[in-house]
Amino acid sequence: MEFIKTKTLLSKVKYGNDWFGVDYNMNLYRGCCHGCIYCDSRSSCYHIEDFDVPKGKENALAILEKELSGKKEKGVVGLGSMSDTYNPFEKQYELTRGALKLLNENGFGVSLETKSDLILRDTDLLKAISEKNNAIIKITITTPHDDLSGVIEPHVCVSSKRFQAIKELTDNGIFAGILMTPVLPFITDREEDIKKLVKLAHESGARFIYTWMSVTLRDNQRDYYYEKLDKHFKGLKEKYIRYYGERYNCAVPNRNRLYRIFTEECSRYGILHDMKDIISAYKKETEKSKQLSLF
Ligand code: SF4
Repeated sequence: MEFIKTKTLLSKVKYGNDWFGVDYNMNLYRGCCHGCIYCDSRSSCYHIEDFDVPKGKENALAILEKELSGKKEKGVVGLGSMSDTYNPFEKQYELTRGALKLLNENGFGVSLETKSDLILRDTDLLKAISEKNNAIIKITITTPHDDLSGVIEPHVCVSSKRFQAIKELTDNGIFAGILMTPVLPFITDREEDIKKLVKLAHESGARFIYTWMSVTLRDNQRDYYYEKLDKHFKGLKEKYIRYYGERYNCAVPNRNRLYRIFTEECSRYGILHDMKDIISAYKKETEKSKQLSLF
C-alpha cells in the first residue's frame, strides 16, 4: 500500500451533530478499492486521484494520539465516510484498529460505517468502547441479494456476510444497524427486496435502518456509474438520462409509497429508522449503562 503525508486528522463537525450524532470526523485512508459502482467519493469535487488505490495516512496514529489528548471536548468520532476504513490493507496495517485503541484509551466514542466484515476482527475494542461510551456501527447493505451486491459492490464481502457481521456485533452488545444507502432506481428499489432486507435486518438483530431512498449523481461519479450500467444493466443508462437528466438527487420512482412501506416494515419488527430516534437510542443506552455501573 502507498502512504501519503498528512498534518491533521480530526475535524470538528461544524454543522451540528445531526448525522448519527458525530462530533468529529476523520479518515485514516484516502481512496477505496471496494469498487462500488455508485460511490460518491469518486466525484471530482473531492480531488482524489487514483481513487481505487487506497493510500494510508503516514503517522496517522501518532497524529491522532496528539490530537485526542489535546481536545478539551470529548465526543463521538466518525470513521469511514469518505473511504471504507476496513479496506483489505487494513488487515496488515491496522490503522483502524490502532485508532480504535486510542479512542478507547482517551474516552472518545465512535460512529463507524463500513461494508466489510473485517470489522469483526475489532469486536473486542468496539465492545470496550460501547461499554463506557457512545458507539454506533453502520453496515451498508443495499440489497438482500448476494449476486446483485457482487455486481454493484464487487470488491467487498456480499450482503449475507454483512448481515452476519451485524448479528455478531449485536450479539456482543454493540449498537449496530444498516445504512441502506443508496437505493438505486430500477435496480435495488423493488418493493419485495426492501421488505426482504428489513426482514433479514430483523433476523440479524439490527437496531436500525437508515435510508433516503435515492442515489446522488454528479460529474465524474455519474460517468463512472453510467459506464457500469452499460456493462451490467443494458439500456438502463438511457432510462436514467430520460428520467433524471443532470439531476443530483435521483429519488426512486414512487419514493413516498416505498418509504411508507419501508417504515411500516421497520415498525413491525421494532427497527428504528428515524435519525433522531437512532441517535437518542444509542446515546441513551450508554447513559443507562453508565448509571448501572455507578450503581
Ligand atoms: S465502500 Fe464506500 S468509499 Fe468504498 S467504493 Fe464503496 S461507496 Fe466508495
